[in-house]
Parts: sequence; structure tokens; C-alpha cells
Amino acid sequence: MDKSKNQYEWGEGVFTLLSWFKKERVKDARVLIAGAGALGNEVVKNLALFGVGHIYVVDFDQIELSNLTRSVLFREQDAYAHAFKADVVAARAQEINPQIEVTPIVGNLYSDVGLGLYKSVDVVIGCLDSRIARYMLNRLSLRAGKVWIDGSIENMTGVVRVYAPGVSCYECGLSREEFNHIMLRTGCADVVRLQSSAGRVATTPISASIVGAIQVQEAMKVIHMTEGEETPFKTLIGKMLRYEGMNNSVNQYRFASWKKECPAHQQWKDVICINTLSANDKVEDALSTLKKYLEVENVEINLLNNKFIDVIISDRPEKEYEVMLPESQLDAYITANEELRKLSYRTIFHKHFYENIDETFPYKHLSLKQIGVPLFDVIQVATEKGLYYVELSQDAAIYNIER
Ligand SMILES: [Zn+2]
Repeated sequence: MDKSKNQYEWGEGVFTLLSWFKKERVKDARVLIAGAGALGNEVVKNLALFGVGHIYVVDFDQIELSNLTRSVLFREQDAYAHAFKADVVAARAQEINPQIEVTPIVGNLYSDVGLGLYKSVDVVIGCLDSRIARYMLNRLSLRAGKVWIDGSIENMTGVVRVYAPGVSCYECGLSREEFNHIMLRTGCADVVRLQSSAGRVATTPISASIVGAIQVQEAMKVIHMTEGEETPFKTLIGKMLRYEGMNNSVNQYRFASWKKECPAHQQWKDVICINTLSANDKVEDALSTLKKYLEVENVEINLLNNKFIDVIISDRPEKEYEVMLPESQLDAYITANEELRKLSYRTIFHKHFYENIDETFPYKHLSLKQIGVPLFDVIQVATEKGLYYVELSQDAAIYNIER
């Protein structure tokens, strides 16, 4: 590997012929990709070919045989091994271009990826297949102040939409019906509802590669943009591009919705980086570090994306079950437990949870991670002096990011 690095530099004499291409910028760029399915495969492949220096790919899913038809980086053996999509995409992209760094994150884009990572990247790319995932990705990207590029495919059609702070927001563009559907799945605070799996959509390798290609082209434009400077490009920010393979049409529309008082628009600015804080810290230690650092008497960590559940209570028979997990892991926990799974068909569970963590929290020996705070997150901390946003900066090292 080291030898090949010395022999040549990726893209030299090729991309350097492009008038707009800035080699150093591309090498230093960081891109976060949510979803490692058909679109994620295409997107990561193209980013690797361009030599984008730091790629982070997030997916919780495992490879199945049916994925092989439109996922260029997957092999039959990966499906038999039930390998994780993120791991395989990262390893294969690394084979394509050994000069870059591709980091897999096996997990959920909102409960396993800290906002610190969202803040550290140049652009976010959504390769998702559900509205709920897009809703969450939109909130996190806007909270971090980032442009995010959404792709979707169905049959011979592909759509790319680009959302940006102050211009367009996925949540604002939702119809009332779509919004209610999402609320039904995410908003019900204290009752357990097992998520049914998303219906399978018919897609082709063609629409995946066309949409994945356009997403990366837009990402390259964002990477090359400098605030206040003119660019040679027209971007899709605030627009949508629709490709129809049936009749070979490509159209661009304005697609920007930015309503007043949408809760998704809150950008977390003035984030305080504390280099001695990690999600691996015990809650009790984190609380005292925060008090000392912020010079306050009272701190309360607000869990906004996840909650900590200590017990669930079934309706009939009325019985308590100890869980001690973040809410994001509850479905998997119930599914894996035979008694609970059977019970879930005929009763409902009520959750007992904690979402504001202070000195009265009874499980202070657990780590922040164990109660649902991802590594390298930015946490909201309420104090008598007001609200603070604090980054768990010690975790930056796991992503090779300097703080
Ligand atoms: Zn909005």
C-alpha cells in the first residue's frame, strides 16, 4: 500500500485536467453517506473514484441475495456471510482507491452517529428508502448547518433533491398526510409499536447508477463551493432533478420549501468542544465535567434523538420487564426475546423512560453511550445559565478528526 502511494498520486494528470477541479480540496473533503444499499454503493464507488479523502458510510442492515442485482460492491459470499452493508461497501471502496480513508458505521443515522461527525463533513448524501430516515437525516443535517443531497429511485425513474439551510427543508416539503404518517411512527412517546419493515420498491441498476452519479456530481460542486465566491456550476440546491427512463426525459424543477417556525430549522451554533468528554464516560462523570467546565450548579443532559428505557410494562397481563437500553434498540430487543415477541402480538407495552438526565437519574454508573448518546455527539445541556451545546470532542479521534 505504502509503495503504491509513493508511485503515483490519485487523479494526477486526469482530474487535474478539469478546469474546476481542486485536488487538495477533494483530498481533504469529508462526506457522510447515509445508507449503503443500491444508491449507497454507487455513491461510495464514485466518491472513491474521484479520490474524496474521507468517506463515512452508515447503515445498520445486512446484505441479502436480492441486493446483488443492483449493488456493484457486493458479492454472493457477502450475502451468505450476512455481512453488514456498511462494512463491505467500505472495504471494497478502499480496494478501488487505497489512498483514501473509508470508515463504516454499522448503525442508525440518528442514534449511532454523533452530530460532531455531521458538523465535520463538507456534505451529507442520503441514500435512503424511507420517509422516516429522510426526516431524521434532514433534521440532523440542518442542525449541523449542512447541505444534504437526497436520492430516490423507483422502477426506471430517479429523483435527486438538494436541501440546504435557509433554502429548502425536507420536512417543510412534506404533505400533511406524509407528515402524519411519520409522526405516527416516531411521535408516540410511551407506547411500543414494532416497526413494520418498509415495503420493497422495484428498482433497477440503471436508475441506481444514474441517481448515484448525479448525487456525487452535486457533492463535488458543494465541495468546491466557497462562501461569497462565484462558482462555475449551477447546483441543484433548492431544486429537484427528475430522470424518466421510460421516455428518456430529464427535467429540473424548483423545489424549495422553507416555512416559518419549522422545528427542523434550528441550527446548533456556538458549540462548545470539550476535549475531555466522551460518550464512553459514565453519566456521573460527564455531569461533573459539565458542571466544572460550564461553571454551573445544575446540569441536565437532554436526550433529543433517543430516550433511555429502564422497564417496559405489558398491558395484559400487567407485568414489568427490565430493558435498560436506549429506545433505538428496543424493537430489536423485543424481537430477539421470545417471550416479549409473542406477547407483542396481543398486548401493548408502555415504556418507562428518561429523557432529561440530571443528578436524580438512578443509573449514573452507565455510560452516556449506554443510555443512547452516540460517540462524538453534540449534546444539549440545560443549566441555570441557559442552554449549551457541547461536543464530546474526545471521540473525534475515532473518526481521525482533529479537535
Ligand atoms: Zn422545515
